[in-house]
Amino acid sequence: MGFFLEQTLGIECYFKEMILDLNNTAKQYKRPFLIAGPCSAETEEQVHSVAKDLAEKSTTAILRAGIWKPRTRPNSFEGVGEEGLNWLVNAGKKNGLPTTTEVANAKHVELALGAGVDVLWIGARTTVNPFAVQEIADAIKGTKITVMVKNPVNPDLMLWIGALERFQQAGIDDLIAIHRGFSVYNHPKYRNVPNWEIPIALVEKMPDIPLICDPSHISGRRDGLQEVAQKAMDLNFAGLMLETHNNPDQAWSDPKQQVTPDGLVDLMSKLKLRKEHLSKDEMSFIGLMRGKIADLDDKMFSMLSERMKIAEEVGIYKRENDITILQQEHWKEIIEKRLSQSEELRLTPKFVRSVMDAIHQESIRHQTKVMNPDLIE
Ligand code: PEP
Ligand code: MN
Repeated sequence: MGFFLEQTLGIECYFKEMILDLNNTAKQYKRPFLIAGPCSAETEEQVHSVAKDLAEKSTTAILRAGIWKPRTRPNSFEGVGEEGLNWLVNAGKKNGLPTTTEVANAKHVELALGAGVDVLWIGARTTVNPFAVQEIADAIKGTKITVMVKNPVNPDLMLWIGALERFQQAGIDDLIAIHRGFSVYNHPKYRNVPNWEIPIALVEKMPDIPLICDPSHISGRRDGLQEVAQKAMDLNFAGLMLETHNNPDQAWSDPKQQVTPDGLVDLMSKLKLRKEHLSKDEMSFIGLMRGKIADLDDKMFSMLSERMKIAEEVGIYKRENDITILQQEHWKEIIEKRLSQSEELRLTPKFVRSVMDAIHQESIRHQTKVMNPDLIE
């Protein structure tokens, strides 16, 4: 089996379709490619009933269910284990859905492949550990299985890339990345903060790997799923993984973030899928506006360059008169003046502060160079 995707090239790459090729019968799915199912398989009946509803009502492409659950603390439900694999695979077969589960070691791989699970995923707590990832990659080597790699719990792009590379080096061509957010202590809004710049950077560095968003683990709450899913669509993610349960409040794991199949259908129907290609009119308007923005950027940068030349002249004067580079009082005045203008300029104080900090640091760099011409940067 394998995953292929059509995409336009370049940084603004856009995954149009995914083709899931099971037993050489390529089935094509429109964006967003949807992976749904319970956080955990709990009982045979539960897995079958959610699979049936998902197949009948939704556009689910792959049925998920956790069999071995990496729980934060001991003595909580840690998954039903091996016996759940058959529930998942049979529920998938009965309802025409390929299946996926999380594997965290070589034994899990052996059991999941033996049971006929179609796609494996690596959980966030496993991606952080190169030993575990390598063990799984070695166990998978030689198969043609599709592997989905969740981001590590910590916001480390290279660790995520490293895990994907370990599978590439084991000969796995069909890889998918799943963005599930990054661990944070007591955040008011998210269970795992999205740090969207990290998945965006991943697409830039590994443009051939489809990227899927998991709003369930980012939001941690049912009422936050829509917003995260929409944001992922607006950032051209290929698809979504959403935890779905027939009785979410009674779920044995992650009860707050799971939705019913009907809730899932409702969420998907409210998603606004914005188009990739622009019409001629749209293109000419946007082209005109982009031109204006580029002109402003030109002016802005030549003014910044001019500003640095003046800063250097000041630097020469400071050098000749033994004056310190940093004049704390003066800097305080400058920053306060700009911050007080932020509302009128319709810019956030945070933005004004960071622009001024960057300009000030660059000025200090120029003056330091003038003062110490031999300094190696
Ligand atoms: C899950 O998908 O149920 C799961 C455990 O996810 P993560 O590895 O992202 O925490
Ligand atoms: Mn979960």
